[in-house]
Amino acid sequence: MITELDPKTNYHLSGETKKIIIDGVAEEPKFISGKNTSAETPTDLLAEFAQMFNQPNIFGKNYLNSLKRLREELKQASNTYQSDRNADTILREIEALQQELRESLLNRRTRLFYFFSKRLESTVCGPQLINLSQKYKTDNIEELLKHNVIPPELLETMLEEHISKFQERNRFFQEQELPTLLAHFKERAERELRLPKEELEQRLSGMKINLIDYLTTDDDGASYGENIINIPELAADIEHATSHELVHAIHGLTLRKKKPVANDKTRKTVKTREGLRFNNGRLYPLFVWLDEGKTEELNLRILGKKDSPYYKPERKELEHLYEQGLPREYTDEAYLENYNPEDPTDKSLVGWRKMIKALDGIFSGRGIRHLRDIEDQLLTTSDVI
Ligand SMILES: [Zn+2]
Repeated sequence: MITELDPKTNYHLSGETKKIIIDGVAEEPKFISGKNTSAETPTDLLAEFAQMFNQPNIFGKNYLNSLKRLREELKQASNTYQSDRNADTILREIEALQQELRESLLNRRTRLFYFFSKRLESTVCGPQLINLSQKYKTDNIEELLKHNVIPPELLETMLEEHISKFQERNRFFQEQELPTLLAHFKERAERELRLPKEELEQRLSGMKINLIDYLTTDDDGASYGENIINIPELAADIEHATSHELVHAIHGLTLRKKKPVANDKTRKTVKTREGLRFNNGRLYPLFVWLDEGKTEELNLRILGKKDSPYYKPERKELEHLYEQGLPREYTDEAYLENYNPEDPTDKSLVGWRKMIKALDGIFSGRGIRHLRDIEDQLLTTSDVI
């Protein structure tokens, strides 16, 4: 399943604007990516978001750096009597950190099998881990961690191996896979969506595409946010997932300038429409189903594929609309059009209006109502949105 970290609300985190969507349909706040939150106040929720966005993209890197730093400090404390802290305190800190590392790995429960059997199998840790599992008669790394039988040094070597393997994987992704994929995407999008090359480049400019270490997330869904696309390294189909998010990245926008408020005179620009979804000021944008269905439809066209397991119910509804007489190209146009209400020469949402007019013709003046009925029905029957 492709899930989204799609724009809804602006939050300022570490000087950067990040956008996230939370599921407004659920009674409890819930990240659409499937991560539940226990936050009860907006401040707590923001803290969780901050953590989510600031998570290191390689598991263990911070631990290893801190351990290295503490060992340096320990060496100095042992060599001199002028140290601020004594060696025992530093040793206890090292032990606490090693313990935290073990617990943190245990929290990545669902990923441990892969970590153990795939990532580390051909590394120097491999034979040592096999020895351990033979000794304790289990090939379950969770058991070994729980019973604290993996020596801390081995655990650290495992992390070093993980980091270097991920870096190797990431390098291949950034240097080989991504450039090919991007070139193919641009070439096909230009032809299939009839977007001029310069326009495509402009819409994709500044877009950062990250590969995400599987140990830092429980989610294998790709996500698209403000100038950021995150692709989990264990995504079922990396090309497909990246391409889907790239379609989101080139969608048309309606940009509005916010009215200045009393203590903030700057007029921020907000995206009130992205593709076919409308950020209407409520917690959950309108017509996410239509936008996702269309995104995946365009993605399939760009990839030259007939079908995918993604957004099937949404695409089925769209196909049904085409069968009932809605021209497919009207939805292309509505998805891709930019609209700037500040510009007096800009015509207001021509493609969208044309599409709704066609739907009004088919559904006796109830075009918008019909789209909302589909949305309501999908929200009650599907957990995809
Ligand atoms: Zn999507």
